[in-house]
Amino acid sequence: MSEKLLNTGFKREVAKLPGAQRVMSCYLCGTCTAGCPVAEVDAGFNPRGIIQKVLLGFEDELLHSADLWKCVQCHNCVAHCPQDARLADVIRALRGLAVSRGIVTEEFAARVQNIDAQYQLERLDSINRAMEQYGR
Ligand code: SF4
Ligand code: SF4
Repeated sequence: MSEKLLNTGFKREVAKLPGAQRVMSCYLCGTCTAGCPVAEVDAGFNPRGIIQKVLLGFEDELLHSADLWKCVQCHNCVAHCPQDARLADVIRALRGLAVSRGIVTEEFAARVQNIDAQYQLERLDSINRAMEQYGR
């Protein structure tokens, strides 16, 4: 990526967004990546890398990245972050920014939300069926 595309003030802009106020407290320890269920199945998905890109100013790359939408908003990263940087909420704020800038449509964002809801229902259904096998 060309340095010309870096926006070193991006982190301050992001820190003004609802939920993302603590973004600059991150010290890049990587605990979020270690406990992320998406990173477990997708080696290319790196929560620490997402917040690092915010801090370094890779605004354009980040807002166009599919990674923003791969996150399932489970908040594991929030629960375990030693700095309370609230990465899941930062990702949600970045999604809102991508929509408001017309990089993706509101329909796309709603579709991702529906996929997540559907996934949770299917998971619940599978667990209930598995429990039935044990007579529970
Ligand atoms: S968001 Fe939190 S857990 Fe993740 S790298 Fe930053 S400080 Fe560590
Ligand atoms: S909220 Fe997103 S980034 Fe955080 S642990 Fe869950 S899937 Fe990973």
